[in-house]
Amino acid sequence: DDLGRRFGLPVKLDHHPRALLVGDRWFGAGRGVRQFAVVYTGEVLGGALYFDGHLYRGTAGAGGELGHTFVQLDGEPCRCGRRGCWDTIATLSWLRREAARTALPEPDLIDSARLVDMAARRLPGAAELLDRYARNVAVGIANLQQTVAPNIFIMHGDVVLGGDCLLGAIAEHVRAMVPSRPGGAIEFIAGDAGDRAALLGAAGLVISELLQLPI
Ligand SMILES: [Zn+2]
Repeated sequence: DDLGRRFGLPVKLDHHPRALLVGDRWFGAGRGVRQFAVVYTGEVLGGALYFDGHLYRGTAGAGGELGHTFVQLDGEPCRCGRRGCWDTIATLSWLRREAARTALPEPDLIDSARLVDMAARRLPGAAELLDRYARNVAVGIANLQQTVAPNIFIMHGDVVLGGDCLLGAIAEHVRAMVPSRPGGAIEFIAGDAGDRAALLGAAGLVISELLQLPI
């Protein structure tokens, strides 16, 4: 309402990963694909599904809260008030805590790019932490693959900064966790680490809404 009053324009509200998904669908690797998933990592974890030719929102838009699916019963407390969410083991706050525990330099500033660089420079513990991080990110993706089999995952946010090294490690862990099926190759694509896809996608969502276009 505040934004609408300030700009004198209608305002639409939607989930950030869905904007990413529309950005990919209209302008990126999701063009012409029947189904795919977007996974965003960083300070938070989220996702969106393009399913059977439609953006899937769930009842009342509540779908896509992937960060708060459970990966460990009675695990670490989560910011949502429950325990053992994927968010507790696969966001930057986990990575920074573990980097401090591993005595890597400047743990509070660590991100995937820095971690990959430290692993390449063979800093003690960096390669092991990189692999654990990849495995932690992979577990939520493996659950999503087992549930709806999107088979194409477009990754956004921090993990993209880790380049092929990190995406390759995540892909390897997912493939090890999910039984392979004929014709069931799982593909990982680097989206963008910044906000470009989200902004393009948000514009796409507004246009779709105004013109009543199917997304
Ligand atoms: Zn949670």
